[in-house]
Amino acid sequence: MSTRKPAEPLGVAEIRPTVDAHASTVVVAQVFCAFTENACRFQLSENDATVLDGDCEFVAFVDVKEASSLGRDNDTTEVIDLSDDEGVQGNPPFAIGRGVPTSTCYRPHHGSRDDRPVPTKCGVWAGRRYYRHMTAESPTKVLVAVAWPYAQGPLHLGHIAGAYLPPDIFARYRRSIGDDVLMVSGSDVHGTPITVKADELGLSPQDIVGKYHPEFLTYWEDLAIEFDLFTTTGTDTHRRVVQAFFMKLLENGYLYTDTDEQYFDEQEGRFLPDRYVEGTCPNCGYGDARGDQCDNCGKTLDPVDLIDPRSKFSGTTPVLRSTEHYYWKLSAFNDQMLAWLESREGWRPHVLNFAVGMVTEGLHDRAFTRDLEWGVPLPVDDLGPGKSIYVWWEAVMGYLSAPQEWAEKQGKPDAWRDWWENPDAESYYFVGKDNIPFHAIYWPALIMGHGGLNLPTDVPANQYVTFGGRKASKSMGVGRPLSWYLDRFEPDALRYAIAQSLPETNDTDLDDDEIARRVNEELVATWGNLVNRVVSMTGRYFDGVVPTPHDLSAEDDAALASRLRSLADVGSLINDVKLRAGIARAMQSAQDANIYLNDTAPWKTAKTDMARTGTTLWVALQLIASTAVALSPYLPITSRAVLEALGAVGDEPIIPWEAPTVAADTTLSSLPPLFAKVELDPEE
Ligand SMILES: [Zn+2]
Repeated sequence: MSTRKPAEPLGVAEIRPTVDAHASTVVVAQVFCAFTENACRFQLSENDATVLDGDCEFVAFVDVKEASSLGRDNDTTEVIDLSDDEGVQGNPPFAIGRGVPTSTCYRPHHGSRDDRPVPTKCGVWAGRRYYRHMTAESPTKVLVAVAWPYAQGPLHLGHIAGAYLPPDIFARYRRSIGDDVLMVSGSDVHGTPITVKADELGLSPQDIVGKYHPEFLTYWEDLAIEFDLFTTTGTDTHRRVVQAFFMKLLENGYLYTDTDEQYFDEQEGRFLPDRYVEGTCPNCGYGDARGDQCDNCGKTLDPVDLIDPRSKFSGTTPVLRSTEHYYWKLSAFNDQMLAWLESREGWRPHVLNFAVGMVTEGLHDRAFTRDLEWGVPLPVDDLGPGKSIYVWWEAVMGYLSAPQEWAEKQGKPDAWRDWWENPDAESYYFVGKDNIPFHAIYWPALIMGHGGLNLPTDVPANQYVTFGGRKASKSMGVGRPLSWYLDRFEPDALRYAIAQSLPETNDTDLDDDEIARRVNEELVATWGNLVNRVVSMTGRYFDGVVPTPHDLSAEDDAALASRLRSLADVGSLINDVKLRAGIARAMQSAQDANIYLNDTAPWKTAKTDMARTGTTLWVALQLIASTAVALSPYLPITSRAVLEALGAVGDEPIIPWEAPTVAADTTLSSLPPLFAKVELDPEE
């Protein structure tokens, strides 16, 4: 068995396999134990386990069934089931714990591959993850697929909250635990949203793209949102991948030609693409529904569905004329899609319910091409000129083309296959509510029709962010431009306020005063001031040199142990894409550290007992460092600044998910206040 050299030092909970001289496997498991609130290390072999250190009273191998019932019924034992993990002889399930009654909470493992119960309250689950990393020949490949914005207007805070900040938080965490993350997206440069805008302004579609794509790149830079590639659908690679996808669907029998009637603007003398037809939504009665989708109720539409249709060009009532197109045999996927959706576990209920509802109503064949020049041309010429592949089907294929472009740029043109063809790879699609049909149904159906590619692991779509009760919308002009916020808030402060308001399960209202309040009353008061207090007291009492700890009290020990629990909890929440709960849990660590500091009052003991003061500050510095790690997916810029000032991180680009050590005798670097209080001008 080959073992990967573990990233060091490992934190939270680790299970580290090594190979001894006789080439048999020795596993050392470090597990955070919810009972002892401490880390325990065990050496595991095929049939035995030895406690190396920590104060767990026992470690026992148990039968898997017995293990489950132990955990559930007895309420005194945490169970780790390693029975299906590869690479360790025997793969023994084992249980740790001691006879202290506590409540144990079980929930299904995230995703569909593993539905066995695992405890949530301790690091055991994190231990499983590390175990996988350490035993796999390579770490888990994680595709973080992010919605492609139309390059036709500026983004606002609703977009950032809905689709762009969440994947960055998730990706940063998965990188921190050692996964191979590939986070991609790009500007959607095709389709009628671009041509509509170009027509309005008397510009070419390319002029519009040339303005907004670079603007998007500055947003990512300003907000520290780190894509591995943010490209466009206008690349040669994208065209090649889309055309090959088309040919694959054709070969597999999922595309056919047919003649249909489509709206034609007689005054303009042209067929009307979906977005050039507007009218009343047949579903909700909204008067300004577009031919492709109703912005009010989210239902995807065909232009012929609209009541009282009108041409966006001339305002006249369009007429139906026949035109030949390729059609996608989507109806063929009804049963397969329903079975797949119903087997999903851990998905957000609003995503799954919406998707299952749509498929239960029945999937119908959809036109695959459009009468539009601006787009990816068909790879076959039997329909004649003037046709392109429908922008929605083509844009989602960006999730496949962007990794290929990334791989080409790495000089390893086949590297993308690790994320797309390896069945152990995971893929997460970060999109807004209006994109659920395209990512939970249509894109998976395209993947099924293609074959040989991974279906989504999860589609953690967000609900809407509203501003003062109104839905933010590029097209409706609600919500300030992002640049307004970037002029007034530090990037991490903005990230903080958005993360605390993510619309994960419900529409969430956000306003400028609430953002400022969160920054001032939560971020500055709880976290920024804590860091400043501890660093400045270390300066005042110990000349800025980390003191050496002396006899640790029970309170010190408990505070130190809480670091591991916090990191395990935050990690588990982020992994389940419960990002809002994750940042709340990370901030709880900062609150706990404040309580520890107030209880131990080093500014008082400094008058009588410098050894005690030094120990307290040493503990507080450890708490700050681990809290900075827990906050690092959310606040990457300031977390790194804190860790650097404490000498607790090197210059490696990824902050490891572990409780770092702030070593005694380290001279702290100067650290300016992390966040400034914000005062908004009420006139603006
Ligand atoms: Zn509607």
